Order: sequence, then C-alpha cells, then structure tokens
Amino acid sequence: MSDCTFCDIVSGEGPAEVVFEDELTLAFMDIVPYTDGHTLVIPKRHSADIFELEQPEADAVWRTTIRLAHAIRDALSPAGLTVRQANGRVADQHIMHFHIHLIPRDQREKRGSLTQIGEFAERIRAALGRSDPRTPTS
Ligand SMILES: [Zn+2]
Repeated sequence: MSDCTFCDIVSGEGPAEVVFEDELTLAFMDIVPYTDGHTLVIPKRHSADIFELEQPEADAVWRTTIRLAHAIRDALSPAGLTVRQANGRVADQHIMHFHIHLIPRDQREKRGSLTQIGEFAERIRAALGRSDPRTPTS
C-alpha cells in the first residue's frame, strides 16, 4: 500500500467500484457519494493537483470525464450534472491525488447506500458497454 488512497486503487491494492479504465485514467464510484451515481475520474499517474498534472494526463482525464458524463446521463437520467475539481485542502480537496467529481443532480438530492453504489456502477458500466474492468474474464 502507498500513502495515497487513489494510487492504491490504481494498483488494485485498494477497493473501489471501478466503472472505466484506460491506459492513463481510471473512473470509479465515490465511496462517500454526494448524490446517487457520484463518480470520480483520476489520472493513473500520481499528480497531487492541477498544478502537477501533465498535458497527456490532462487530455486523457477530460476525455474520460466527457465519456463518463454521457454514460451517467444515459444510465441515470439526472436533471443535471455538476463537474467539480478542487485543488488544495483549503479548496475542499480531501485526497491529494488529482480528481474530477461527476455529480448527477436532481431536484431531490439523496445519498446512495454502499450496496446501491454497486448498482449505479453497474448501470454506468452498461451505458459504457463494458463489464467491470477489474473483474478477470476467465
Ligand atoms: Zn496518488
């Protein structure tokens, strides 16, 4: 285990409900969702914040964020979607590994239980046309 929760998720040492993975990025469900379907997109390579992010990762993170935005809309039909990114503890960044929040919004906000998080992940994966990228297919 490293001293970074998100690096542990990237390496597979930390648990996460992963919905998307490519060469440079990973997307997974927020373990403390602000709303149902709250998803995070991160670069696999550790960058603490936007100031450490290099251009290939920045491009890849935005590509994945837009792809996930469409998948969340297809899967959950929220009335809106908040995309949020914080840099520094004073700006409410809690994990010091760059991440983008995708927060589905409705008139009526609610928080999913941990079991529901898996259901939302499954729906988002289905919208992406993918199975769990972390489940071995054998
Ligand atoms: Zn990290």
